[in-house]
Amino acid sequence: MTTINTDFDQIVELLEDILGNYKMHNDYKGQISFDCPVCSHEIKGLDEGDGKGNLEINYRIGVYKCWSCGETHDTHGNLHRLIKRYGTKKQLQFYELMRPEDVEQAQKVTKIAHLPKEFIPFSNPSMGLKLTHHYRQAYSYIKSRNITDDMLKKHNIGFAFDGLFANRIIIPSYDINGKLNYFIARSYLTKTKMKYKNPDVQKETIIFNEQLIDWNKTVYLVEGAFDSIFVDNSIAMLGKVMGEFLYSKLYANAKEIVIVLDGDAWEDAQKLYHKLNTGKLFLKVWVVKMPMDKDIADLKGDFQNLEKIQLD
Ligand SMILES: [Zn+2]
Repeated sequence: MTTINTDFDQIVELLEDILGNYKMHNDYKGQISFDCPVCSHEIKGLDEGDGKGNLEINYRIGVYKCWSCGETHDTHGNLHRLIKRYGTKKQLQFYELMRPEDVEQAQKVTKIAHLPKEFIPFSNPSMGLKLTHHYRQAYSYIKSRNITDDMLKKHNIGFAFDGLFANRIIIPSYDINGKLNYFIARSYLTKTKMKYKNPDVQKETIIFNEQLIDWNKTVYLVEGAFDSIFVDNSIAMLGKVMGEFLYSKLYANAKEIVIVLDGDAWEDAQKLYHKLNTGKLFLKVWVVKMPMDKDIADLKGDFQNLEKIQLD
């Protein structure tokens, strides 16, 4: 992962050497824009860029297109072609060394999660940061959800006040080797269009925070990442329905399972119970019936006095 990122950083530098300063850059998607040399020099006869930033490049996939003259002047194609035309021979050679081997690989890379560069973990904030209204706003949301400082630390929870995931609490997920495989980003603003904005990674192929799971102990199945913070040894399904990947993982590894969904999801909980309560998991599955209007966070994870039952 590190080497791949370094390569992309070098491609960005190379593009800047050839095309000047970029206008916009989304390093998460590998998308970057520059003033188009065709628009600026060939069409408008300018010595410098036209300031429009119409040339858009995706360096992960290795393609470019000008939104203004793309169709009329054939300004689109693979990145090799652009660099051949506007760069030196040396720059083209350098690009050939640095670029991802094939598009398929590059697209896979875009599907690997990494935390946004604006991510700030709550643990150990600097004094300067603590005094900002950004920090206070994010932290007061955390407090309103009853999340303690120990929980913040254990799950490496943080926030961003800038960038693609601005004004969001970020809960990372790490795989069994401690490598990031997903994160959820929930808005801490009261008025927001999208409550959640998560990375472009297939959540169906990951186990949320598998590194915190001890398969030899009872595993708790909960709905969301916020729920899992409150329950030791729990897996967030990231929804009310379980995917096949999680199912096969549970079937292969779990010894005992307790299902704890929100009060309004009793039907889903029953379905889940019957799906899991078969084969070697038979009679090793329980379900907790939550009060209709409650979820785990309301109870601060304390549902132990609620009965866990087995269904017919
Ligand atoms: Zn153009």
